Amino acid sequence: MSLPANFQFSQSNLHDYIDCARRFELRSLLQMQWPAPRSEPILEQEHHILMGERFHHLLHQYFIGIPKELLAPSREEEQLNAWWENFNRSGLLDSIPKRVLPEKTLAASWEGQRLIAKIDLLAFIPGEHFVILDWKTSINRPPSRFLTDHIQSRFYPFVLVLAGRSLNNRKAVLPEQIEMIYWFANFPDQIERIRYSQEKYTRDEEFFSNLMHEISRLPAGQFLATADERKCRYCNFRSFCERGETAGNWREMEAESLGVDDLESFQSIQFDQIAEITF
Ligand code: SF4
Repeated sequence: MSLPANFQFSQSNLHDYIDCARRFELRSLLQMQWPAPRSEPILEQEHHILMGERFHHLLHQYFIGIPKELLAPSREEEQLNAWWENFNRSGLLDSIPKRVLPEKTLAASWEGQRLIAKIDLLAFIPGEHFVILDWKTSINRPPSRFLTDHIQSRFYPFVLVLAGRSLNNRKAVLPEQIEMIYWFANFPDQIERIRYSQEKYTRDEEFFSNLMHEISRLPAGQFLATADERKCRYCNFRSFCERGETAGNWREMEAESLGVDDLESFQSIQFDQIAEITF
């Protein structure tokens, strides 16, 4: 099956494919909307996602230059206030380059495909250091191994190497110049820093090339439903695929998934629900 003319690979749709090819097909190729909750309780989950989006928006406003005193959330917005205070106290900004681009979209053409990465904040010194920052509002702090292996930690630096010339005086950004930082609003001191390297880039080049070729050559009807039904508990296509009617509890799932033997399930839920805010 050839992909639609305007199709773009993102960390989100690649992650869908790795999790479940059927989900990738339904969501990204057929663009199917299926109105079912991903997890329960719905109101609590929706509120948490909404707060996550508000927090991303708040930081965007801050990084485009709106003074802090004009941004403080109202007292009623307890959760948002706590995250905002955590951010202001964290000292994170002292450890990154001063030149910043909030909500930066990087796009690259590579091997006949279009790749797109939507970055919360890019902080950089041309020719020296490029830091990709990602804000996370998950209620648990994922283990470092989960973060290092997550496709986002591989895809974003990879796309920056491909697309970063315009930010680097027309010179290629070197993998060694790139660092990825996850900052957790609920765990402000537990920053995860992941360095990129030529070795990782070479590995990712082969990985993404194989993955995209596999997807682009897969015939319609061959995007198979995952055999691991645990991934269906937090998927909104659950009833469409006849994989159960009731959504799993997102708090329980997030907590239980932090066990080292169940990292994949964690990947399917909280981390990605607000991993790539549309901007
Ligand atoms: S419900 Fe399960 S099989 Fe269906 S798209 Fe979602 S993860 Fe795949």
